[in-house]
Amino acid sequence: MKLYEYQGKELLRNSGIPTPRGYVVKTLAELDSLLPSLNFPVVVKAQVLVGGRGKAGGIKTAASSAELQECAKSLLGSFLKEDKVVALLLEEKVPAVEEYYLGVTLDRATRRPLILFSRKGGMDIEEVAKETPEAIARIYVDPQIGLRGFHLEQLVKAGGVTDPDVKKHVQQVARALYRLWDTSDAALVEINPLMVLADKTVVAADAKVDIDDSALFRHPELEAFRRELPESELERAARETGFLYIDIDPDGNVGVISNGSGMIMSCIDWIARRGGKVTCALDLGGGATADRVARGIQIVLKNPKVKSLLISIFGGITRCDEIAGGIVRAVTETDISIPIVARLEGTNKEKGLALLTEVNGKTIEIAGTLPEAADKVLRVQGR
Ligand code: GDP
Ligand code: MN
Repeated sequence: MKLYEYQGKELLRNSGIPTPRGYVVKTLAELDSLLPSLNFPVVVKAQVLVGGRGKAGGIKTAASSAELQECAKSLLGSFLKEDKVVALLLEEKVPAVEEYYLGVTLDRATRRPLILFSRKGGMDIEEVAKETPEAIARIYVDPQIGLRGFHLEQLVKAGGVTDPDVKKHVQQVARALYRLWDTSDAALVEINPLMVLADKTVVAADAKVDIDDSALFRHPELEAFRRELPESELERAARETGFLYIDIDPDGNVGVISNGSGMIMSCIDWIARRGGKVTCALDLGGGATADRVARGIQIVLKNPKVKSLLISIFGGITRCDEIAGGIVRAVTETDISIPIVARLEGTNKEKGLALLTEVNGKTIEIAGTLPEAADKVLRVQGR
């Protein structure tokens, strides 16, 4: 779950990391009532989940109330890349002398938390990594030992910070950021830029926080954040059933239900290879029961763009007979007018296929392989 900058900054602040004073506004009326309490210049920041807002025109500076109102009018309701701007974060401008980068993530190759630090912050860190990888310090932490003082010494040394005061402040923030990453089950916490001020203190001018979805059940305290995040009716219905709904291509007309992101991508690839386009997909994950599968099918069919549906299952923990039971239930309970192609492989395949023969021919076609399924799901459209 990716958080908005203002939400991420709230977590940073609660962890003792200095952030600029900021206000969130969602309407021009809210802005007007704030005007008397603002100190100009003010940085106006579009709150969207896509990165690179600076380059895309989502970060502006206003020197006066009039300029701020102008900025807010042009940003609120506009689109930044594909995200609609529904909120702005207003902050007093930080007078920076340097911009650093600081992040904590999980390095899957070494299976360790990784702290990244660079004095070349502010811009695209991916570009820095490509062009001057030596400008990024990488410190791996053994999770059994946890973060120790020597890690933080290595971090600033490799990062080339020599001033003792700046060093101390960077280390304080790194320690707090690591702790936040660890205790919040984050996949990523990132401060870019971490501003260095003339008095050698540091301030987090941006915040990117991504919480591991699988660990969200351990964090009821983050539930309030989720309610502020954009979520469509179908995404919410799927999440509440324990599935993941993904919009894929607004120009597509095939729906895909499968288990696991790899399988879903294979389905999308095969359908594309056969000249079709997938509009949305539902990931059932592992161990879906008939009752939930039926609900999953009903969720996908609520998308009016879906003109045919491919259900491709690799049965492991998930049992093919449960899936088939769900399909049968969905087509008998609901009046389904669009054709469904099913391909089942793995645990209890035969039992599943036997169940499907009862409704086979009505709206369901069976396919043996994924390429065959892709062919069929395109051919059955408009029948
Ligand atoms: P991003 O492009 O989505 O990562 O958005 P950021 O919040 O990082 O803002 C982009 C850039 O705007 C930063 O790298 C800074 O250079 C600049 N910026 C943002 N906030 C401030 C601020 O308070 N003071 C100053 N001087 N620059 C800022
Ligand atoms: Mn940034």
